[in-house]
Amino acid sequence: MAPVDRSPKPSFTRSLFLGRVASDLVLPYPTLETGERRKVEALAASARNYLTTVYDPALAERNGWVGDDTIRDLGALGLLGLFVEERFGGQGLSQSGYCRVMEEFGRADGTLAVVMGVHQSIGTKPIHLFGTEEQKARWLPDLASGRKLAAFVLTEPNVGSDAYNLETWATREPDGSWRLSGEKRWIGNGDGDVLTVFARSDQGHVALVVEKGMSGLSTGPRFETLGLKANRLQRVHFDNVRVPAENLLGEPGDGFRIAVQTLNNGRMSMGTSIAGGMKRFLDLTLEHGATRQQFGRPLLDFELVQEKTAWLTTQIYGMEAMSYLTTGLVDRGVADYSLESAMTKISASEAGWYGLNKAFQVHGGEAFMADHPLSKALRDFRIFPIFEGANDVLQAFVALNGIKALSEELPDVRSLRITDPARAIGVLAPYVSGRISRAIRPGQLLGAHRAFAKQTAQIAEQTVRLRDATETALRRYGSKVQEKQLVQKRLASAASGIYAQTAVVGRASAMLERDGLQISGAEKAVALSFLATSEREVSRLLRGVEINNDSATRQISASVRQAGGYLFDL
Ligand SMILES: Cc1cc2nc3c(=O)[nH]c(=O)nc-3n(C[C@H](O)[C@H](O)[C@H](O)COP(=O)(O)OP(=O)(O)OC[C@H]3O[C@@H](n4cnc5c(N)ncnc54)[C@H](O)[C@@H]3O)c2cc1C
Repeated sequence: MAPVDRSPKPSFTRSLFLGRVASDLVLPYPTLETGERRKVEALAASARNYLTTVYDPALAERNGWVGDDTIRDLGALGLLGLFVEERFGGQGLSQSGYCRVMEEFGRADGTLAVVMGVHQSIGTKPIHLFGTEEQKARWLPDLASGRKLAAFVLTEPNVGSDAYNLETWATREPDGSWRLSGEKRWIGNGDGDVLTVFARSDQGHVALVVEKGMSGLSTGPRFETLGLKANRLQRVHFDNVRVPAENLLGEPGDGFRIAVQTLNNGRMSMGTSIAGGMKRFLDLTLEHGATRQQFGRPLLDFELVQEKTAWLTTQIYGMEAMSYLTTGLVDRGVADYSLESAMTKISASEAGWYGLNKAFQVHGGEAFMADHPLSKALRDFRIFPIFEGANDVLQAFVALNGIKALSEELPDVRSLRITDPARAIGVLAPYVSGRISRAIRPGQLLGAHRAFAKQTAQIAEQTVRLRDATETALRRYGSKVQEKQLVQKRLASAASGIYAQTAVVGRASAMLERDGLQISGAEKAVALSFLATSEREVSRLLRGVEINNDSATRQISASVRQAGGYLFDL
């Protein structure tokens, strides 16, 4: 993959909010180089073989754990240290390669995908990304082989989405070591061996590696959950645990940045794991739809059933395109991919949930039976829009970053500090009814195949409309836009739609370049269908910034809150 310019410049999505399409960041569409592709294909095939012939998701659910034997076997197959450098016993895969193999876990079992994600994407990752050579040499070989399991320990009883305000406290001792006290909850692999624990201290947030057996560390009792039952979810207690100085990742004060960057990087595998799960839902739906007969015909003969298989296919295509575009940003050394990673996570977890619902519908009552794989998937998949960043919070994060980027570029609102509402009201007052004066020239998506000329032009046009809508919101609400989450949601979803369309045009263009115009008509149809649907949705969202029912929504919510329940007797 071609390296890109690493000098600081706005990320792809921040550029979208400025009305620009930063083509050089996304095209040509990233692909694996041949050597890595072969390795990834071999690892994915070996994972699929094991997961379909040996691993039993239903048994794991009954046992409440994926099984120590499974961990041992996956370690022996080289599947537990996929991105860890070879010199530390891993496979040394790129982010794209890693996420491609993770797709296999999602296809086989949502729970195992989560256990793998906790161990690798967020458990091992902070050491891989932020550890010193000595720290890597100390922990990574055992983690890559499966001799030890890793955990990411952030959430607390009083601290969920607002992860900055941790209550777990670390006190520095004169010898440089740390004393850690506090309680964490809902920790996957919380009874594992190598725990990256986030805490606050007098010197800011810290990330400390706590090892099983340290005095004062205890776990349990584990949580009983709706789904992901084979993921041992734990309480973890720290009672004055002494953590040696050499177990600190980064510097004192780096802890929050390490947590956030680990999640930005790690949540990408959720996108591809969900894509894997959706492929399974599609396979099950096609199989059931072909064999189940009603009204004298297979279910697949009915248009409303066909709509569901078409929807699943199109969404998987779009989600894959978006996921691997995002992993490609990491592999090309792009410094800031936080918004793209967030948008991919939001889109994948929503599509996964809706897709599951569609597959479920086609299965009728059969999927409602407790031992059906879709019944299990229903229990497992509901958490995806909530954990590793609740979608609502991530949506606001995407929009506010875009709004901030634009506010800094507009000469007449540059002095507005998005984080300072009191000051902003005065600054913006003259602009509240101001018109958008500057005509923005649409930036083009350069490098797409000419077969997608119309869609490429649409992407440019939507990007300008996104900027206009963002400017409108900024001028109308001033810094109060920070409170306008309904507007933020539309802007973030529109940006995400444009990003997804860019990914699909890039992916389909790459296929056309590779295979010539005869690429399967089916693939082109899927791409075009995704693009048309997404373009309509983006238009609807952007119109909604100006024309909406938000004040009624706020009013109803306030009145029902005041009344404490439903107000109206029939
Ligand atoms: C199965 C499972 C596994 C987990 N694994 C781990 C793990 O391994 N390690 C770990 O550290 N944590 C883990 N967690 C915790 C998980 O990351 C948190 O559940 C998540 O961060 C959300 O926090 P919360 O559940 O406390 O929700 P809250 O923060 O209380 O939020 C609840 C809801 O309120 C809304 N909301 C919150 N804030 C805002 C806002 N600013 N704007 C708009 N809406 C908002 C959202 O709809 C959100 O879904 C796990 C949780 C579960 C259930």
